[in-house]
Amino acid sequence: MLSILGANDIYTMKLKLLLFVSIILISCKSTQEFTGFSYDPPGVTNTTGKEVTPQHRRVIGVGEPKIWLSNEFESARAVDFYQIDDTTYEVLVEPENFPINNSPWYAFKIWADVPKAINLRLAYNEGRHRYLPKVYRSMGSLSAQHIITDAEFDSTNGTATFGLFLEREPQTISAHFLENSRYSELILKSRSFPQSYITVDTVGYSNQNRAILAFTVDESDVDQAGVLVLISRQHPPEFPGYHAYRSFFDTMIGDSELAMEFRKHFVIKAFPMLNPDGVVNGHWRHNAMGVDLNRDWQNFNQPETRAVRDALSPLVDDPTKKVYYGIDFHSTNENIFYPINEEIVTTPDNLTQRWYDVITEELPEMNFVAEEFDTSSPIAKNWIYRTFGSDALTYEVSDELPIDQIQKLGVHSAESLMRLMLEEWKSQNN
Ligand SMILES: [Zn+2]
Repeated sequence: MLSILGANDIYTMKLKLLLFVSIILISCKSTQEFTGFSYDPPGVTNTTGKEVTPQHRRVIGVGEPKIWLSNEFESARAVDFYQIDDTTYEVLVEPENFPINNSPWYAFKIWADVPKAINLRLAYNEGRHRYLPKVYRSMGSLSAQHIITDAEFDSTNGTATFGLFLEREPQTISAHFLENSRYSELILKSRSFPQSYITVDTVGYSNQNRAILAFTVDESDVDQAGVLVLISRQHPPEFPGYHAYRSFFDTMIGDSELAMEFRKHFVIKAFPMLNPDGVVNGHWRHNAMGVDLNRDWQNFNQPETRAVRDALSPLVDDPTKKVYYGIDFHSTNENIFYPINEEIVTTPDNLTQRWYDVITEELPEMNFVAEEFDTSSPIAKNWIYRTFGSDALTYEVSDELPIDQIQKLGVHSAESLMRLMLEEWKSQNN
């Protein structure tokens, strides 16, 4: 059978050629400007605004009697809905713009006027199926989930199809847990801390005018406190990383002896939601200007990254504070640490490598791996290193790690890091 190259194939070939050329350029000349990681689309480090296609919020009804699909809620992503045959229906999901990393976030509500068993197909423009579908009867608690593990993946067109029984009551289907992932809930939480040592400031506004919040935890009683910087949700779909961050943060602000001792020596500066526009609009990767924020930490073209830079930069000249460590929480297809190369000297040095040893020893079931990088890419971790000389980490949680395991990981990570940082602090100050 004759095959004719479609626009997608030509695009893929161009992409491969570009990647090939970039790899040669990088390997020939180490001082070459950073152009992207292997999983990045070309042009990712150009962080000036790009055109974004807005998603139309609507309710779509197909067939007779009708089956309904809605994307009228925060974090929803579904562009269109069709009937294919008597029992098969297709949801089309598109990114905010492209080229884009394959993080095809989807979320929609679906219901039927007359209960019916159907096959539901998830189809993607500019992407391929990646995340297991999670089904909610309502926007209920995290534990009310049902995860579809037997969807049939079609490798030729990147779609996934699964059986679903539709009722009059809407079910929510999404690539990631939606409950508590929403921006508005963070805003609510920011008003409810009972602890007097936690302050919440608006340090800037996103392109669509949503507050970029900074949580400062400070009850230090030393002349110079170490500062732990926490960043999360640069990439909208990466809920597992965000949820690990929350367990981590909650453990650090808790009333355990360890946490109280930690807070005598260390201040926490946390930026839990860097891309609220992307989260609210269900973006796959980018902010409202179509930019990958975690490639903007050199040019600072976007207000979200500038907000964090401007909030933290004064610490360089603050004799009462020393930025000690930074963690940027993400998710990907495995539990993985991306440390700064062991050879690069940071202050403290190789904290990540020591922490990694503790986590892999104490939580072997998490199968954590590590891959070190140099500091050339314009990402948050490297900006922290370049600005403060401290060690920093990109902390990636597996896309499909169960909720209870994410929480366990967050708690354990916080406890082990607090111990390690206290040891380091005491060894330096004795
Ligand atoms: Zn990410």
